[in-house]
Amino acid sequence: MFSPITINTTTTGRPLRLHLVSTGKGLDKTRFRQARFRNKLSILDAILDRRFTEWIPIWVLIIEHPDGTFIVDTGLDPAISRPGYFKTSGFAVTRYMRSQFRFRITPDDGIDQQLIKLNIPIPSVKAVILTHLHFDHTGGLRHFPQTPILLNRKEWKRPAGALKKLYPPGFQPTLLDLNTPLDPFPNTCPLVPDNSLTLVHTPGHTPGHCSVLIKTDTGHILFGGDACYTQDQLAETKFAANMASYKAAKRTYRKIKEFARNHPLCFLTTHDRESTDRLAQRTPLHFSQ
Ligand SMILES: [Zn+2]
Repeated sequence: MFSPITINTTTTGRPLRLHLVSTGKGLDKTRFRQARFRNKLSILDAILDRRFTEWIPIWVLIIEHPDGTFIVDTGLDPAISRPGYFKTSGFAVTRYMRSQFRFRITPDDGIDQQLIKLNIPIPSVKAVILTHLHFDHTGGLRHFPQTPILLNRKEWKRPAGALKKLYPPGFQPTLLDLNTPLDPFPNTCPLVPDNSLTLVHTPGHTPGHCSVLIKTDTGHILFGGDACYTQDQLAETKFAANMASYKAAKRTYRKIKEFARNHPLCFLTTHDRESTDRLAQRTPLHFSQ
């Protein structure tokens, strides 16, 4: 299992604590993780691939901000271990999910249990922020029936690859319109009054995919969700096989790099094995292209 990490820092002189916890782990095909084509053929290529990758984490970021505790994504549901988990999504989805991926998560690794370990009561959580609607990011939503779930309106209107039958009953997120520019990102939305937490539209993986930008007193941290699977992919402009739009993803990569040129940026993703090391060291994003 991937070890969690906690870091203590400040934002405008006030304490800010961040936790990364992995809600289980997953395996996918090597050509799914990194596509050989930049079009829909890449999915077929991944299906035909016989090789699986090494285990990867499913990080959830917990932000204890002076204005409240925010949780970015909710990870996998331990119920995924049950054979019928995907049944409501139909035969084809079940077959695809079970043949192309492997997931391991114990009840102890669910987001609810991880919050107990961190001494963070669920009623004290101000909001859950979703980067997008894929099941490995929404699996813990049922633990937050009273908590506002913040989501880009675009993601709600045009979900790509979301398994709606796995949403909790009556799921109704609070939809945000991202119409504030934050150079070089054209579409962002501040989440706290002093703009130290911002939702940033980073399309590509899905049309409405978002990242969360955190401004600390020693530099910025971007939790990039599935904008890419690893920092290396971003640095080398490589893509996973399941991009809803490679064109949009390429533009997103350019914007993140442009931001990183102007501000020291520690870049994290949901499935990067190195995310915790980079957060611990506050390693800035480096790239040559
Ligand atoms: Zn994911």
